[in-house]
Amino acid sequence: IRWTEGRGWHDAQLEPYAPFQIDPANMTLHYAQTIFEGLKAYRQADGSVATFRPEANALRFQRSARRLAMPELPIETFIEACDLLVQQDVAWVPGAGEESLYLRPFMFATEVGLGVRPADEYLFVVIASPAGPYFPRGVKPVSVWLSEEYVRAAPGGMGEAKTGGNYAASLVAQAEAAGHGCDQVVWLDATERRYIEEMGGMNLYFVMGSGADAKVVTPELTGTLLPGITRDSLLSIAADMGYGTEERRISTDEWREGNADGTITEVFACGTAAVITPVGSVKSARGNWTVGDGEPGELTMKLRESLLAVQTGQAPDPHGWMHRLA
Ligand code: PMP
Repeated sequence: IRWTEGRGWHDAQLEPYAPFQIDPANMTLHYAQTIFEGLKAYRQADGSVATFRPEANALRFQRSARRLAMPELPIETFIEACDLLVQQDVAWVPGAGEESLYLRPFMFATEVGLGVRPADEYLFVVIASPAGPYFPRGVKPVSVWLSEEYVRAAPGGMGEAKTGGNYAASLVAQAEAAGHGCDQVVWLDATERRYIEEMGGMNLYFVMGSGADAKVVTPELTGTLLPGITRDSLLSIAADMGYGTEERRISTDEWREGNADGTITEVFACGTAAVITPVGSVKSARGNWTVGDGEPGELTMKLRESLLAVQTGQAPDPHGWMHRLA
C-alpha cells in the first residue's frame, strides 16, 4: 500500500515476493525513515489459523510512525494486510506446535531526494517467513554481556520505536558481547549506566522469591526501551496464574546482589521470536555470575508453556488475544 502527501493511502496490492528497485537517492537509504513490526500466525489446536495480538502490533506501528514523522496506517488496514498475506500463504503455516508463520510488516520512505526532512511518499509492505521452533533441541539458557560502553537509546531518542536505526546502533555491542563469549547484549540506561533496560531484541523479566510467593519484576517503560507485546502479555499471564507482578527499575547491583543472596531466583528474556528465553549467565566489567543454577527456571518454563498454549489454541484465551482468520 502506498501513501502520498495530499492523497493518503492508495493502491493496495497482493504481489508475489520479489526484489524492489531502489533509486540511489531514495531517502530511506540516507536518513533511515523506516519502521517495522514482527508477529506470528499459529496453527490452532482445531486446525484453524490465528495471529497473536495483531492490534497491539498495529498500535505500536502507529506510535513508531509518529516518532519517525511518518503517516499512521489505520489499525484495520494493518490487520487486513496481515490477514490477506496469511490467507494467501496459509499452506506455509506449519502444523500445530511452536512453529509459526512470522509476519514482518514494514514501512519506509520512497521519495527520492537529498534534503533532510520527512518524506512525501511511503510504502507499507508485509512479508512472511516460516519460523521453526526457536530451540529445536530443547530450551537453552543464553549468556549475556552487560554493555556499559554502548547504549541502545537515550531519553528523548527513538528507543520506544521499532525502527532500523535502533538495531543499527546495537550491532557493535552485539559484536562486543560475542567477543566476550556471550550470546546476547543487555542494555543499560543511557544516563547512569546502572539500570537494566532490555536484551538485544527482547525484554527482560526477573523472578524474585520462589514457589507460590514468587513475583515477576520487569523494567518499567521509561521511553528508552521497546514496549514488547510479549512483555505485556506475560504481566497478565503471571497475574492470572496468581503471581505478583511489578514494573520498576532494576539496577545491575540489585541483579548481582540478588543473585548472590537468592532474592533473584530466575531471569528470562521475552519476545515474539523466542517467546521466552532463560538467561543462564552474566558477564560484565564488574564481575561475572551464574543465574540460579544456570538451568532454565521452573517459573520461566511454566510461563513459556502457558503463553505458547494460548498462542497455539491449546488453552483458553481469556484476554481475546488470538485473531482468527475466517
Ligand atoms: N525489545 C526489542 C529491542 C525488540 O526488537 C523486540 C522484538 N520486537 C522486543 C523487545 C520484544 O517485543 P515483542 O514482544 O513485541 O516481540
